[in-house]
Amino acid sequence: MIFDPFELNYSKIRAYLDCPFLYRYIYAERRFTPPTSFSSLGLSVHRALARYHAAPGGDLSDLLAHYEDAWLHQGYATPQESMEFYNRGARVLEDWWLHFQANPAQVMYSEKSFEFPFEKWRIKGTIDRVDRMPGGLVELIDYKMGFEGKTGGDVAGSLQLSLYAIGLSRALKLKVGAIAYFVLTGPAKISVPYDPSAEEATLNLVRETGEKILALDLSRKGKCARCPIRKLCPESEAQEAPPEGS
Ligand code: SF4
Repeated sequence: MIFDPFELNYSKIRAYLDCPFLYRYIYAERRFTPPTSFSSLGLSVHRALARYHAAPGGDLSDLLAHYEDAWLHQGYATPQESMEFYNRGARVLEDWWLHFQANPAQVMYSEKSFEFPFEKWRIKGTIDRVDRMPGGLVELIDYKMGFEGKTGGDVAGSLQLSLYAIGLSRALKLKVGAIAYFVLTGPAKISVPYDPSAEEATLNLVRETGEKILALDLSRKGKCARCPIRKLCPESEAQEAPPEGS
């Protein structure tokens, strides 16, 4: 794939905001961050849920079959660790299933992609889930494994959810009524009413970050101690193993 600094998505912007060297490593140099047990588990669970939503009407055994098919083996130190995480993910999905049965929702889209032009950039993204709300509105939901705690304030202030809400509005012409994190390890949905007045600040941040990305401004560093590539990065100021769950 050709490196295109005019194509932005949340992950690129997040990487640059976390550390310009992290952005350069992943997107300009096109090197890959090694999977960890937690990132691999999260991806496997996300893939299972996406496959389940793509074929509505299935039961728990269908969901667990999707999980087995979607399981990623990379990122685990030993087969035993892989098995422990597999079982952990299965429990998360069983709990999610019970929650979904008790709280039925009209899922409109799963893994829904969007793209819209913004000044000189193209903004892209993929949304975990979009539910129908009363009154012609939709709720935008992002699944989180929940290794780190989430609050309503996190949801309201999320750059990711704000950017996705703009994508739903501009690219898919949907009216967003609420934005939410679904914390799978709860399981719990943390939902807040969507406030469109935050769009201007979000797009200002996109523009400012996009300009710095175009200039490949490397005038600062992020927090190396929590960085996923700190053992690989030549600029790293911390080489020890990442903390669990980071
Ligand atoms: S190790 Fe430090 S300098 Fe390197 S990408 Fe990570 S945060 Fe940036």
